[in-house]
Amino acid sequence: MRIFHLSAECYPVAKVGGLADVVGALPKYQNLAGLNAAVVMPYYDRKFVRENVFDTVFQGATLLGTRRLYFEILKEKTDKLGFELYLVKIPGLLDRENIYSYPDETEQFIAFQIAFLDWISYSQQSPDIIHCHDHHSGLVPFLLQHSKLYTRLAKTATVFTIHNGQYHGAFGWDRLSYLPEIDLTKTGLLDWSGGINPLASAVRCASRYTTVSPSYLEELTVSSNGLEFLFFLERARGIGIINGIDTEVWNPATDPMIVEKYTSAKIAAGKQKNKEALCTRFNLDPAKPLISFIGRLVVEKGADLLAEAIETSLAEFEGKVTFLVLGTGEPEMEKDLQEVKEKFPADCNVYIGYNEELAHLVYAGSDFLLMPSRVEPCGLNQLYAMRYGTMPMVRSTGGLKDTVIDFGDAGGYGIRYNNASVTDICYAISRAVVLYKDEKKLQLLHKRMMALDFSWDVSAKQYMELYKSLKPTTI
Ligand code: ADP
Repeated sequence: MRIFHLSAECYPVAKVGGLADVVGALPKYQNLAGLNAAVVMPYYDRKFVRENVFDTVFQGATLLGTRRLYFEILKEKTDKLGFELYLVKIPGLLDRENIYSYPDETEQFIAFQIAFLDWISYSQQSPDIIHCHDHHSGLVPFLLQHSKLYTRLAKTATVFTIHNGQYHGAFGWDRLSYLPEIDLTKTGLLDWSGGINPLASAVRCASRYTTVSPSYLEELTVSSNGLEFLFFLERARGIGIINGIDTEVWNPATDPMIVEKYTSAKIAAGKQKNKEALCTRFNLDPAKPLISFIGRLVVEKGADLLAEAIETSLAEFEGKVTFLVLGTGEPEMEKDLQEVKEKFPADCNVYIGYNEELAHLVYAGSDFLLMPSRVEPCGLNQLYAMRYGTMPMVRSTGGLKDTVIDFGDAGGYGIRYNNASVTDICYAISRAVVLYKDEKKLQLLHKRMMALDFSWDVSAKQYMELYKSLKPTTI
């Protein structure tokens, strides 16, 4: 079964968040299971692209409105990622360094999708499944069915996975001409609230849509930035599949980015060495419990509550707990966190920036990982934390709710709380501080969480079942 994954991100080529981790891992596991999965993404002027060899497999020209675009499809020569990796390069549009936030982002992603469709159309390829990820490839299901240019591919099965339903990629009808010739009687399938909405269109036009956790599928019907009614109407066509993690990249027994490798048999000693290295680097006392946060400093992640929660807890548990924040995002939140660090230099440190290597050490060396997310479609951080024997402290939402059981409940191993509020976070911190003193219990909980299986094996099977249900004749 031939599958194309279309995505703006893919680890290790270009990553902003969890989307990259999923697209960098799922196809690898699908190929190991006997499928033939490839990734197609925009070309970025980044380290991975510069340091690897690519062949040009196709050259073409297409139109974006009246603008003629020349594009190339490049393929990584060795399939070293465990799948074929294709990059769509368009000089002046898809050849930049950053993934998001250019003023012509709409043009970039429309061009990406058209170039992909032109390529598979002209080169007579017939994939069984086109698997689109987030709004950046959300117009593909509509275009396949309702643009005359792609009639040959009109029956291709499509899956649309929502990693983040807050971003829709919406733009005005004045830019309809950017799309290739379409059936104008079908424009209702593009529209939401008077604009072209790629996310809404994909939910309606894909053969099936998925969310990255079952709870998130339900939550989208109550909170999705204006698409609640759509998700309510389309609920029966959705399916929630929890993300797996790449257990090769995230493995404390082999991880080259941590100081001391360890298995669950040697967890206490292994974690202690990593904690010491981390604390030395950030001037913290390794004898105290270390609670860390990793992630984008945005409201969605509850990062606006962090500074106050840390400050309140440090005032309350003076000298009994330490905090480390690794993240980048809203300048106001960065500033607030820096201020707490200046106020409590012995017990709080902040690293503003994106640092993949450091993230591995933080997962390995921390005692607890705080995730006060308001919205968490799946959340990978808690899964990585548990794999490294670090207790997640999560707000009960989305994938966090689906993957973390409170240690007070039967078989539990984490800390859960209900509200995205400073009070709830501080209460969770107080539970962590108390638990930290009970070494025996902690050891048991560490072992319990490290024994959990969040590998892709389970989730990849669920995607396979979904593909089969859409394409029964190829099996
Ligand atoms: P989202 O995609 O919403 O940002 P996820 O939990 O799905 O959240 O994925 C976040 C991923 O990004 C994880 O791999 C996490 O380790 C990584 N990450 C986030 N911020 C940073 C950072 N500042 N430095 C290193 N890694 C980070």
